Amino acid sequence: MSARRIAATSSEPSFVPVPPALPNPVPTAPIARIMILCPATNDPIPTGLEAEVASWQDRSLSYNRVFCPSCKETHYWNKGQAWLENRQAS
Ligand SMILES: [Zn+2]
Repeated sequence: MSARRIAATSSEPSFVPVPPALPNPVPTAPIARIMILCPATNDPIPTGLEAEVASWQDRSLSYNRVFCPSCKETHYWNKGQAWLENRQAS
């Protein structure tokens, strides 16, 4: 039995197998609907806009308009009146 000799080939470039490129997974940032309170009926209504939860604090929203499904009026709202819907609640 002859001991197998492992040649030291440190001078040769080593080929590191490159893993196949996976399709870039889209980061699933949580998105929530922006809600406001109808001033007429006090119902929470969706503004039709959505926002990333993570960047909500940094967003500036002002003078937005929404047709209210609750009282059938158009409301103007800004960020101070709005909040993100909590989708955890079922
Ligand atoms: Zn309304």
